[in-house]
Amino acid sequence: MTKVALVTGSTSGIGLGIAKKLASEGYHIILNGLNTPDVANVVKEVDDLGTGEVLFSDADMSNPGQIENMMHMIENKFGKVDVVVNNAGIQFVSPIEDFPVEKWDKIIAINLSSAFHTIRLAIPMMKKAGWGRIINIASAHALVASPFKSAYVAAKHGIAGLTKTVALEAAEHNITCNAICPGYVHTPLVDGQIEATAKARGITREQVIKDVMLGEQPTKQFVKVEEIADLVSFLCSDSATSMTGTCLPLDGGWTAH
Ligand code: NAD
Repeated sequence: MTKVALVTGSTSGIGLGIAKKLASEGYHIILNGLNTPDVANVVKEVDDLGTGEVLFSDADMSNPGQIENMMHMIENKFGKVDVVVNNAGIQFVSPIEDFPVEKWDKIIAINLSSAFHTIRLAIPMMKKAGWGRIINIASAHALVASPFKSAYVAAKHGIAGLTKTVALEAAEHNITCNAICPGYVHTPLVDGQIEATAKARGITREQVIKDVMLGEQPTKQFVKVEEIADLVSFLCSDSATSMTGTCLPLDGGWTAH
């Protein structure tokens, strides 16, 4: 029976890469993200890759009610969700004394609480099916900190704790829960950070890329979206049945030092 995969924040960047990979492997896919004018093209692009159905939900992942509606839509349509990839995320860079309170709340809601909501609503369906895979796209910032990213680092460390807790609770139900912790990947999210980091540190864009971002990564290369998508695919495979509760760095060696 065709498996069903929800990938949150999948209209761009890493989430889109993961959705494409799972679509090409035959999954039904629920894409999610902000409703921008190019969404119809993105849906078609993913749909053309595989044999499963591709649906789009514009649920705002900062809104628990909209997340509930999305999960009920999936249950009504397919009767199950086999794979949940919690990927939606935003960033904001500022010294903590100037960090806008509403930005803190938004980042915690989208980058952390949304995963709590999708997981609490997916687990009953996965238990019923006797199989499930939950994959949280965390960050190297789930393992180490950087200055000026208080909300992001707090949310991602929270995701690491949530991952371990869910893994323990679900272990006897053939449901695994893991986090992938990428280093810098050149997506629209990172592009937006370059300017803000340059301002916060008083340096140029080029210095941010070379010294701040790739300075952290011993390989001196951005991580590729396809590498993350391949790891998601592996975690969904039978070979990863016993792998649960892990936070897997995919960071060019960043967190090795
Ligand atoms: P991106 O900006 O390219 O994509 C973000 C996606 O989230 C988009 O589809 C957007 O529509 C969606 N989104 C944003 N706000 C939303 C909301 N309120 N409700 C629903 N969807 C929303 O970002 P990306 O770089 O691909 O990042 C994806 C994830 O990977 C994030 O959790 C991020 O923290 C994590 N990550 C990124 C990097 C990196 O270097 N790019 C590194 C480590 C971890």
